[in-house]
Amino acid sequence: MKDNSATIPTAPPVSNFIRNIIEEDNRAGKWNGRVETRFPPEPNGYLHIGHAKSICLNFGLAHDYNGACHLRFDDTNPEKEEQEYVDSILDSIRWLGFDWGKHLYYASDYFDKLYEFAEYLINQGQAYVDSLTAEEIRAFRGSLTETGQNSPYRDRTIAENLDLFRRMKAGEFADGAHVLRAKIDMSSPNINLRDPVIYRIRRAHHHRTGNKWCIYPMYDYTHCISDALEKITHSLCTLEFEDHRPLYDWVLDQLKDVVPCHPQQIEFARLNLTYAVMSKRKLIELVENGFVDGWDDPRMNTLAGVRRRGYTPESIRLFAERIGVSKADSWIEMGVLEDCLREDLNERAPRRIAILDPLKVVIDNYPENSEEECLAPNHPQKPDWGKRVVPLSKIIYIEASDFMEIPSKGYFRLSPGAEVRLRYAYIIKCIGVLKNASGEIMEIHCTYDADTKSGTEGAEKRKVKGNIHWLSARHAQQAEVRLYDRLFTHAHPDTGGNDYKASLNLHSKKTITAYVEPFLNQTQPEDRFQFERHGYFVADREDTVPGKPVFNRAVTLRDSWGKTGG
Ligand code: ATP
Ligand code: MG
Repeated sequence: MKDNSATIPTAPPVSNFIRNIIEEDNRAGKWNGRVETRFPPEPNGYLHIGHAKSICLNFGLAHDYNGACHLRFDDTNPEKEEQEYVDSILDSIRWLGFDWGKHLYYASDYFDKLYEFAEYLINQGQAYVDSLTAEEIRAFRGSLTETGQNSPYRDRTIAENLDLFRRMKAGEFADGAHVLRAKIDMSSPNINLRDPVIYRIRRAHHHRTGNKWCIYPMYDYTHCISDALEKITHSLCTLEFEDHRPLYDWVLDQLKDVVPCHPQQIEFARLNLTYAVMSKRKLIELVENGFVDGWDDPRMNTLAGVRRRGYTPESIRLFAERIGVSKADSWIEMGVLEDCLREDLNERAPRRIAILDPLKVVIDNYPENSEEECLAPNHPQKPDWGKRVVPLSKIIYIEASDFMEIPSKGYFRLSPGAEVRLRYAYIIKCIGVLKNASGEIMEIHCTYDADTKSGTEGAEKRKVKGNIHWLSARHAQQAEVRLYDRLFTHAHPDTGGNDYKASLNLHSKKTITAYVEPFLNQTQPEDRFQFERHGYFVADREDTVPGKPVFNRAVTLRDSWGKTGG
């Protein structure tokens, strides 16, 4: 079987404004042809599909320009960060197919350097210790329409600032008693330049540095210096950092004599996906409030979640390529992501039969204890994948929806007196319906035409419109199947003042026991199949055990969302 060996052909990279900048830099010899990017997650949650856009972009550019992409944990906020998140991030990036090689870094590795540079700024008269409270700092900062005011502590001498900063580090002051601020311009129209805080006192255990530090550098200060120390050339971030770029540049300009280079910050539009929430804070809430079964719940748009759902790395990379990179914010339809998975799995997933909602059919004229082999192609467009045996016997299951006692107009499947083809087998005709006392249909009786077996001479002599799938009752295996659907009923669960919790789809997970082909009991975790006429399914990577697969529906065959109510 060729499962998972097929790959989608990768198209040549599509140009975008970032590639244009790199190519222009290369023409001008700006970085001597060097392209070094980085992906800088904060280890305060699991990665989501939005991060995948950034990962594919950064690692993709490094790959295409023979450069390197660094993986750097931006771990400057000790309270929210955990080793579990670090591990999950490493795992997800590897799963997506990217390799940081020797370039694995932690911003916390630079704490000594960052401290040294802070003293350097103090010595240059470009940073000062402020003793206003957090509220006072906020009030003094002004607003978009009001300029800020200088802190009364702004003009402390260099010696006094150095002394206070060293004592902050030594743990002499309570949390919040002082901060270190860059001395830039309290009247700048850009609020980020109104003397931003660059260090704060925070007695918190850090996941890597333990209790060594009681002062921690702020993100904006740390990020640009980390980029420079790693000699990043193009520092790509999302649009909300555009207003932070002047600060990024200011810090590196002040430190130009002590850092190795001045990377260029370039902003691109973040991914917004319909029927999803993309903020780590909200994803954490979904997990902590039990709205989902964990970070890797197949309904979550975390990378761990989409993996468990059945997404392939190839489908995610195809998605990243297809949505492209631009400077304008926009929404991407969930259907685009789902289509990428369909396209990928259509190529690589072997076909199998599953009956999700069984209805018993007795073939009255089929010999009692006999059985026979029917041959079904593993992939309709790939004859080299061969065929598999699907056994047929007197009693079979079909899908309940493939029978209608009183057929509606245009219904070509089974109904009293009607004929359909059992895929890969015979034409059958419905001759009776057996009901219980309360009128429910218990079984259907049919006869089969022994001259019509698929693949035999004369099989095509009679044409019927309906063609349905089935399994021999005696041979079929039972398996747990989880039918997942979108987690939200609203396309924009958390915008325009919507509370995303109000649009949680209460029917997004349905667990059933289905019948599957006999050999599917040998399924390995993460094997993927197309269950004919149903969709693409993956063997759950956690709950599948030898001989007992559990299948997750990754995606239906067609996008019927909203048309049939899900
Ligand atoms: P959140 O707001 O969910 O906490 P974040 O941006 O703070 O996300 P980080 O760990 O700081 O999360 O993100 C790491 C990188 O991923 C950043 O460079 C960020 O710009 C990028 N990123 C995050 N979300 C998206 C998104 N929706 N689309 C594209 N890139 C994203
Ligand atoms: Mg962030």
